[in-house]
Amino acid sequence: MRPVKNNFKMNSSGTLDYFYTLKKRDSLGTSYLFVGDNQSLVYDIIKLISCCNDAHPCDSCWDCLMIDKRKHPNMHIVKPEYLTTTIDAVHQGIRFLTLKGFGLGKKILIIEDGDSLNKEAASAFLKTLEEPPKNSFIAICVSKIEGVLPTIISRCRKIFFPSSAADIDVSSAGAVGDFLRGDEVGFSDRKQFISFLWTFILLLHGSLVSRISGQNNQLPAGFEYEIILGQKSPQQIQNALNGALTMYGARKSVNINLALNLIRMKL
Ligand SMILES: [Zn+2]
Repeated sequence: MRPVKNNFKMNSSGTLDYFYTLKKRDSLGTSYLFVGDNQSLVYDIIKLISCCNDAHPCDSCWDCLMIDKRKHPNMHIVKPEYLTTTIDAVHQGIRFLTLKGFGLGKKILIIEDGDSLNKEAASAFLKTLEEPPKNSFIAICVSKIEGVLPTIISRCRKIFFPSSAADIDVSSAGAVGDFLRGDEVGFSDRKQFISFLWTFILLLHGSLVSRISGQNNQLPAGFEYEIILGQKSPQQIQNALNGALTMYGARKSVNINLALNLIRMKL
């Protein structure tokens, strides 16, 4: 087993390529949870989605310029005030999505610093995330996935940015390879299991983005999971990723063997 590179990153060009591919295939999702401190990359993604040129993005058309100025009429930004995002601010954002848009572009709602949503404000979102208004795009930005309501996590597509994809623990990455191969994996304590689960999430997410964006530099090289994941369909990987995220939400109390079996079943 070769050592894993210690700098696993979801680079920004890979992420933009991923969204560019989704845009070209007309298979963009509606609700996204962006994890990691990189709100400027979220705005690049918004430009890419809205840009009228076949570029990623052109940075010079009217849409790109207005988004850079944060003044695009089809874009509404919800930000915390005094560290809290109020339910009123969320309601305003939801109302914005239901109003008639300017031109044909998507109506875009961005929740900056989503960590600041209190439970009440986050709950106000659930119905909109479940049945979003037509032609809308919702981006919820959080710095960490811990603390995000599981009901929000399950309703959004998840994108992890470099700052959250911190260095992968080498022994966990080895355990992920063993797990994917079908071998038993054991943990000396719950902390080790949680580290495994997080590494598993990052690797599956990286693999999915690589497959769809066509960039192969998203994952640390040299482990068998590259080959094993290569044999799985993107849908299988997505299912396993969703399963792992659910288990991560319950990581403090979930039965470890049960969690591993549930994730294995999805692959
Ligand atoms: Zn443009």
